[in-house]
Amino acid sequence: MNKRIVLISIVGFALVGLLPMAVHNPYYIHLVETIMIYAIVLFGLDIVVGYTGQVSLGHAGLFGIGAYAAGVLVMKFGAPLWVALPAAIAVTAGFGALLALPALRVTGPYLAMVTLAFGTIIQILINEMTFLTEGPLGIKLAKPELFGAKLGEREFYWVVLAMLLLSLVVVHRILRSHLGRAFEALRGSPVASDCMGVSVYRYKVYAFVVSAGLAGLAGSLYAYSEQYISPNTYNFELTVSFLLAIIMGGRKTRTGALLGATIVVLLPKLLDDLEMFRYVAVGVAVLVTLGALVSVRRGKTAWRSAAVPVLGSIGLAAVSFVLQTMTDWRLSIFGLITLFVVYYLQDGIVGFVRNALNLKPPVNQVDEAQVELMRGDAIANAKSSANGPEVLLTASHVLMQFGGLKALNDVDLQVKRGTVHGLIGPNGSGKSTMMNVLTGIYVPTAGEISFAGRSVVGRTSSDIALSGIARTFQNVQLFGEMTALQNVMVGLHHSFASNLLDVSLHTPRYQREDAAATARALSLLQFVGLSDMANEEARNLPYGKQRLLEIARALALDPQLLLLDEPAAGLTAPDIKELVAIIGKIREHGITLILIEHHMDVVMSVCDTVSVLDFGQKIAEGKPAAVQADPKVIEAYLGGQAA
Ligand code: ADP
Ligand code: MG
Repeated sequence: MNKRIVLISIVGFALVGLLPMAVHNPYYIHLVETIMIYAIVLFGLDIVVGYTGQVSLGHAGLFGIGAYAAGVLVMKFGAPLWVALPAAIAVTAGFGALLALPALRVTGPYLAMVTLAFGTIIQILINEMTFLTEGPLGIKLAKPELFGAKLGEREFYWVVLAMLLLSLVVVHRILRSHLGRAFEALRGSPVASDCMGVSVYRYKVYAFVVSAGLAGLAGSLYAYSEQYISPNTYNFELTVSFLLAIIMGGRKTRTGALLGATIVVLLPKLLDDLEMFRYVAVGVAVLVTLGALVSVRRGKTAWRSAAVPVLGSIGLAAVSFVLQTMTDWRLSIFGLITLFVVYYLQDGIVGFVRNALNLKPPVNQVDEAQVELMRGDAIANAKSSANGPEVLLTASHVLMQFGGLKALNDVDLQVKRGTVHGLIGPNGSGKSTMMNVLTGIYVPTAGEISFAGRSVVGRTSSDIALSGIARTFQNVQLFGEMTALQNVMVGLHHSFASNLLDVSLHTPRYQREDAAATARALSLLQFVGLSDMANEEARNLPYGKQRLLEIARALALDPQLLLLDEPAAGLTAPDIKELVAIIGKIREHGITLILIEHHMDVVMSVCDTVSVLDFGQKIAEGKPAAVQADPKVIEAYLGGQAA
């Protein structure tokens, strides 16, 4: 499967490379060149939009910065190509970091507004800074020289193709690496990313910087390609077409980006030419009708839901023969197509085709030999050790206040190394809040917490996670679109020292780390009994299995302390039995546990000590049997049930 894709790509790109030999009309060569340049932007935009799940309406601005960085360098200093391109990438990447700043604070529509403002400001700056950019007059530049020879239309086309291939390989490798997993984890669950030691802050900036670098490369190529740049190219419309291209092509795929680029470059031309539009409209109508027929026969779609796209596309084809001119209708048709795509092709064309043909997105190949080597003891090389001071975690006088509510009120907690410490209490008594305070999600209003001799208060969640506290969540926080294996590999992020260069070049260091992490992740999956679901998307796992997957992911962090927040909730009886066995094994490895649980039989069978919370206060503590018999505890639980 994978080999076939590589083969098809090589043949495809070879054909694209031969195009200037076969076609002599410079118009078409330039058109394909533009598609390739857009595709480079889209590879980058997809990192931000498709993988990290942020919106950016600022990418036309970044594209403009790249174009102007090259343009100004060439005009003012006569910079050669090999200086202009890297400089444009560097400058634009810098602006990418700037654009990431708002993304650290806001998301969704607010981020859309801020990035839109960024794009607009860039456009205004280019317009106004005439001493540098010549303002509205724009900058003219010639095709560059390379190795002393001046490049013609054709040769430059090949330069662009080479850059496209380079970007494709680098982006693909980044996205398949621990860096790509970190980006994708942000989208799945920012809280869980942080608690797996993958700093949301850091990887958001990283994603924007890489994305901007690609926009910068594309922008500088664009400047040479057009040989003239002016401010009004990099406007709102361009930014929207970039986004549209990602949505139409399909996010999280390079094929989608190439397809999207082709569509947004060709569509406007198509809508200019009535004759051509008629052909295409009829073609599309036939394809949609055939697709719908197949889909209905296979029982994948109901007639009723297939009717609208079929009638719509036939209607559009019919209208194309009635129309006498296109000019008045361009925007309306463009709008209709957009609406159609957003409504019916939410995973883009690539997603639609994959779905229709039952293809799964490619997954990490697993080296069985490596796995056999690592198999056996999944958590054997955990950092935890039974030595060190007897008390691993101390919380004293912890107060957590939400407005007037004291969710935790003067709570003391001591957790001994190597024990399982139960934390129980009625709903709303502050158990989960305690975990959130311990893992840095909340900063306590007052009080002190020290873990392994260091204070936890005020440190970031990812920092705390890396220092040895792992956790699961009461409401499962998996990275839904990632496979079970990838989820665990996010937990293994800390085991990678490879940087962007290692990843791009696939250096021995990266290969070694990747193989080790894959094998380790598989053995962790085996440990929780999920080996046969390794390549299943996390969101498709049954609820009980999701909870087990969260435990495997947490163990990947090599924690000294593992916090489990109601791990048995929603589990079937046999699953609970398995869970108890797993907890036992974890503890045998010297990992300390804090267990929040409502199933009293679980608490009784695995805990060494139990603390009881009620209304944010600790009301009892001791051996499980003693606590269970404590009248205050019985009263709290009965009171909770009565209310
Ligand atoms: P539980 O013991 O069931 O896990 P929690 O720790 O989730 O209880 O909640 C304890 C109390 O704190 C509840 O009254 C809850 O509504 C409140 N609480 C928890 N998180 C927040 C928050 N982020 N903002 C406001 N109130 C909160
Ligand atoms: Mg809770």
